[in-house]
Amino acid sequence: MNTKAVVASESAPAGGFFCEVPSDPCAIVMFGASGDLARRKLLPALYDLSFHACLGPRFRLLGFARTEMTDNDFTQKAGEFLPTGNQAGAQDSKKSEFLKCLRYFSGNYDDPEAFRRLAQRLEELDSEGQLGGNRLFYLATPPEVYSHVIEQLKKAGLNKPKSEKSWARIIIEKPFGHDLESAKELNKKVLEAFDESQVYRIDHYLGKETVQNMLVFRFGNGIFEPLWNRNYIDSVQITAAEELGVERRAAFYESAGALRDMIQSHVLQLTSLTAMEAPATFDATAVRNEKIKVLQSIRPFTKESVWKDVIRGQYGPGQVGGKPVPGYRQEPGVKPDSATDTFVALKLHVDNWRWSGVPFYLRTGKRLAQPLTEVAIQFKSAPHMVFRGESNETNSLVLNIQPNEGISLSFGAKSPGAQMRIQPVTMDFKYKDAFGGGSRPAYATLINDCIRGDATLFDRADSVEAAWTLVDPILEAWKNASPPPFPNYPAGSDGPRAVEDLAAIDGRHWRPL
Ligand code: NDP
Repeated sequence: MNTKAVVASESAPAGGFFCEVPSDPCAIVMFGASGDLARRKLLPALYDLSFHACLGPRFRLLGFARTEMTDNDFTQKAGEFLPTGNQAGAQDSKKSEFLKCLRYFSGNYDDPEAFRRLAQRLEELDSEGQLGGNRLFYLATPPEVYSHVIEQLKKAGLNKPKSEKSWARIIIEKPFGHDLESAKELNKKVLEAFDESQVYRIDHYLGKETVQNMLVFRFGNGIFEPLWNRNYIDSVQITAAEELGVERRAAFYESAGALRDMIQSHVLQLTSLTAMEAPATFDATAVRNEKIKVLQSIRPFTKESVWKDVIRGQYGPGQVGGKPVPGYRQEPGVKPDSATDTFVALKLHVDNWRWSGVPFYLRTGKRLAQPLTEVAIQFKSAPHMVFRGESNETNSLVLNIQPNEGISLSFGAKSPGAQMRIQPVTMDFKYKDAFGGGSRPAYATLINDCIRGDATLFDRADSVEAAWTLVDPILEAWKNASPPPFPNYPAGSDGPRAVEDLAAIDGRHWRPL
């Protein structure tokens, strides 16, 4: 994250950001440009960068996909996904400035001839836009296409920087593999074509302001870190709950499930940021070195502990927001007897000096009572209660990642009156109140970082493999067991009942959703 380049300004448009120095000129080749991610997330993110002057006029986006389209068709379609009406950034002049930089290229992802022509097209764009030969390839296709594209980029010589002064980088979307073996294979394929320093494995959670703020909160302040260990912390709960169902992504989700889609990536990222040691400096190597140590310290699951410490679930029909919604097996594109997990809760142990004996409870799921992503630190209670008859109030600190971005510290206070009665109260910091509304889209932050060559918020080959190493025994155990009695939680609830036992067995309980 290049904090020097992106600063707040009173004169900046909505969102409060602009770039002091525009990024390097470059061509971005977006594979899968006709797809859902490209339309809903990537094009708006690139527009956001252009709007906030992070991308200058010396930038070209070349959409690449099999669908036949002209430059005009692509540009017109892209325009439909940019802000309109009262939305921030809805300025016609800015939009047409951005859309002028868009081009389209139709080809097959495994066709050497298409990539030879792509190389030529990039040469033309280089001279037309004075792009300095800098190239960013964005893999926004389904994962089965990744290795074809990488192979063809290598064959066409596009994997190497064009000159000593230019750069070539590649962003690879999640999921990076579907288990440890496939992640290793993909890493091998990627690293046969690119140097690790050119590779940016993206997890868009890390582009969120509130996720990055976890680092600032922990390492930019002196008062919290001394408490951040087994001496003061009783347990940690990390929740990534979605209210939405599987939406348009049933085909993908059927082969993924919550463990692969959320725990292996987003939730373990949050765990690493919560549990890591302070890096010596804020750079890609130092930060990523500390994050991977957390993953390596997590006690591996065994055949026995999977059944004790991991609960999976799948939603049935229920009510969300007062409206009836179908169960997972009734969603279009889902098998009527699907055994896919739409919910996972698990208990982890981070076996190191800082965290020994502090359980980490993780949960994620679709169609839960409300959308909520948070990291909750539960502190130990006071060692001796001097106020007789009062409960030994415990303190908690909750980092709200979304939707009510902020930080909340709860503690016991004397309630007014003659007696010494204790009542829990909170001290709240809200992003919206402190910094105004609107934060930069996560994808915009990360694409901007990649163009600047800052890989701090991207995954390294070893950390992706470490996360899969942790998750693999769970997948293996589930594969070899008969399917659980799904559905086991109604849409709109807090998840399967059995989840409560996971914490209750330790005398703890989950925070309500
Ligand atoms: P899509 O299914 O929309 O695919 C993107 C494009 O790839 C399609 O428009 C199509 O373009 C091409 N494509 C689709 N299927 C195939 C196939 N079997 N073989 C070759 N080409 C194919 O995917 P998304 O846009 O949803 O996702 C892209 C990537 O981003 C995936 O890896 C996904 O996991 C990841 N991702 C997506 C998110 C989302 O919200 N959509 C969120 C996080 C990650 P054409 O036919 O024109 O070539």
